[in-house]
Amino acid sequence: MSDSDVTRVARGVMELVLRHQRKGQRTGTCALTPCPDCRDAHVARVERYVAAGEPVRFVLPAFPGKSPNTAKVLGFLPDKAEQLALEFLSGLTADIREVYAPGAEILICSDGRVFSDAVGIPDEHITAYQREMQALIDALPRPSGIGLFNLEDLPELAGLGHDRMREILSERYAEPLEQLRKRVRAGEEAPLYRAITRFLFEDGNTPEYTGSRAALQRDARARAYVVIQRSKAWGDLLADRFPGALRLSIHPQPCGAEKLGIHLVRTPDNWLTPWHSVALDTGDGDYVLVKRSEAEARGAQLVRAGGRPSHYALTEPLAPATAAA
Ligand SMILES: [Zn+2]
Repeated sequence: MSDSDVTRVARGVMELVLRHQRKGQRTGTCALTPCPDCRDAHVARVERYVAAGEPVRFVLPAFPGKSPNTAKVLGFLPDKAEQLALEFLSGLTADIREVYAPGAEILICSDGRVFSDAVGIPDEHITAYQREMQALIDALPRPSGIGLFNLEDLPELAGLGHDRMREILSERYAEPLEQLRKRVRAGEEAPLYRAITRFLFEDGNTPEYTGSRAALQRDARARAYVVIQRSKAWGDLLADRFPGALRLSIHPQPCGAEKLGIHLVRTPDNWLTPWHSVALDTGDGDYVLVKRSEAEARGAQLVRAGGRPSHYALTEPLAPATAAA
């Protein structure tokens, strides 16, 4: 393949990915789809895979485990929301195979073990979630192009306790909390910090919680720093472990950033993810992610699959006035 063919193919691959970009801004070139600056930020990495004739490797830190708040989710195991996201990612690798035969591999790097203590998910729930994620991946049509990588998959951590694994990750990669706090106070990572604080506050604000809102807010802020610190450490470890891979993110990112934010499933909230929500069948062959409480408030019916709660389905069309017109 000539150099110009490599560039053309690499751009084609990136344009497929950018159709699903979760944008951090809609100004400047990011007002365009695909944004040429976001595309060009990643093309060189894709070109290296294309020139070598290898599958393009994407690393996606995501799918940590379900939120512990049952007002948002159905339980601690993956359900229809995760299945839809995996089908979407697998579909994306199939689209890439159409323009580049060796295709792509999206490695989901589950970050639940990395910060389970800070987000209040028991380690047994993380283990069960990961096991079920692998089962969902195994059930995808082949080739799925999807892999799963967990903290305990690092050979040097084999046999250690989960707390010790997190300690080793922090010893090797974590930025000191004081330094991170300073950067956030200076405005860096501010949208991420606000989003994580909001999730942690909501997750702690369960019917069983009896403390004050102010105390919960304080606690959420303190834990948000730990979540960001460990996420960054995990990202740095992955960069070492998978050099050359393209870094995807489930959060919106600035234009041209090294990480590329993508949507996994349609959602009205730019920050909502499958593990903070439920899938809602809108009745027209489509699904949207919403909080469980919202699905119930709309009178949606719980659907079970494989003996477990799976998702909700609207019993009436979303907008009857429009449908009648
Ligand atoms: Zn852009």
